[in-house]
Amino acid sequence: MIRLFVPGDLKAGGEVVPSADQAHYLTTVMRLGLDDELRVFNGRDGEWRARLAEVGKRGRRLRIEARTRAQSAGPDLDLIVALVKRPRLETIIEKAAELGARRVRPVVTERSNVPRANPARLTAIAVEAAEQTGRLDVPCIHDPERLDRLVGAWTGERRLMFCDEAGGAAPVLTALGEASGQSWSILIGPEGGFSPRERALVRGLPGALPVSLGPRILRADTAAICALGLWQAMLGDWRGA
Ligand code: SAH
Repeated sequence: MIRLFVPGDLKAGGEVVPSADQAHYLTTVMRLGLDDELRVFNGRDGEWRARLAEVGKRGRRLRIEARTRAQSAGPDLDLIVALVKRPRLETIIEKAAELGARRVRPVVTERSNVPRANPARLTAIAVEAAEQTGRLDVPCIHDPERLDRLVGAWTGERRLMFCDEAGGAAPVLTALGEASGQSWSILIGPEGGFSPRERALVRGLPGALPVSLGPRILRADTAAICALGLWQAMLGDWRGA
């Protein structure tokens, strides 16, 4: 079943206009015709059954029929990730969406060798991944901020799973097995790692939980995927209802 994210409000009897890309996808790629069925969601109103109400060169409309699922969201899980080169960052965004992160917060660190990201492009990747997974919310992709700022604003209301390859951190399953808390952030550093100063700052934050992901140094994308999966399995919605 095709699922599309549409930003507009969804209600029975309503209509939405898909973007040009979505219309192309529906009619040319997926070959949907008039009255064919799909699902739509907007991150607020749940998932709805919709039908193609108009196809043609200029006209394109979806008719909204009935709600098929109530709105839901996964656990309160952030991924804080240092800016890394674009292909890896895009992989991280896609996988974070698949693995149920609620937000992704890119950070600039001392050793980040990439100064900026394109939040609109990253959001488009998150939307596409959300459509494919069946989740009804789309992870919020924040604008990049400096790690120092994030650390300075840290209130300690969330737990912080600090993926720390530099030695001395507990094995991840041991650490998470003894941990609790509803709201979590996972922190992954850049390819060059955190500076000693940053590492000390992060380790000193209230709620910080340094964890090791094993004896090998992982690339940032691998580390992010492992950390998200392990967290979901130990503390998140992989545990079942
Ligand atoms: N400092 C490293 C590279 C960092 S790898 C170097 O020698 O170049 C990128 C990020 O992935 C790290 O900052 C850390 O957050 C995470 N990471 C990689 N391997 C890890 C491991 N074995 N345990 C915990 N975190 C790891």
